[in-house]
Amino acid sequence: MLHFQSPPQGLVEGWFAVLGAAMGSFLNVVAYRVPRHLSLIQNSSCQACGKPVAPWENIPIVSWAALRGLCSGCKSPIGSRYVLAEAIAAALYAAGAWKFSVTWTLVAYLILASALLVITLTDLDLMLVPDAISIPITAAGIVTALLAWWTGIALFVANPLIAVAAAAAGYGFFWLIDQMALWIKGVHGIGRGDMKAAAMIGAWLGPTLLMESIAGAIFMGAGVGIIAILAGRSRSARMPFAPMLASGAVLTALLPHWLFSWLH
Ligand SMILES: [Zn+2]
Repeated sequence: MLHFQSPPQGLVEGWFAVLGAAMGSFLNVVAYRVPRHLSLIQNSSCQACGKPVAPWENIPIVSWAALRGLCSGCKSPIGSRYVLAEAIAAALYAAGAWKFSVTWTLVAYLILASALLVITLTDLDLMLVPDAISIPITAAGIVTALLAWWTGIALFVANPLIAVAAAAAGYGFFWLIDQMALWIKGVHGIGRGDMKAAAMIGAWLGPTLLMESIAGAIFMGAGVGIIAILAGRSRSARMPFAPMLASGAVLTALLPHWLFSWLH
């Protein structure tokens, strides 16, 4: 536990909302560049005309509103998903600060939630969960569990063996579903990227919250799938699953046992 004098109600959440918006801006860049193998350190420029983004144009949410969502050079629209992702990151960070206060658990939650936002964006964009995100963040979850076990700090998972087991369980669960789909229907049902996303959630949240995250993801996936079919999309159309897993995991981290209250 980090110790601070208790500040006024809402101030910490407000600061984390601002930090979240700034991180959301960075995570947008990560989600765009990592799957395209582009450098993370070069400055941003307009995707249409190549005009470099000036520092004052790079203030999360505020700049987008000031520019009315248009590039200052060529006036081509800047996708609203960028500002939406910044707003979601602000909400995720503020909700974490509200739930966990300023603790190591908050740090763990923010790392996982940030990675989940990135894979949500890449999966919506490219139907892809980059290994460059899922593998190192899974490894970091296991190392963090080891450090927590060593130092006695309370975390979602404070035992490296449990983190490894939960990561393997997350991967294995979706691998089994995929194998069953292959056996029954002759086609793959689940992408490798989704298996690794589940492993990442397991490594950071542990087995119980992993199960709840997956159950939440499956419910949401079924709901979205039914709506998509009712809206006329083909039954065989592939649906990005990482956003469901990400939503299930964030919801479970913030409100544990929202689904499996009987487990406790
Ligand atoms: Zn432009």
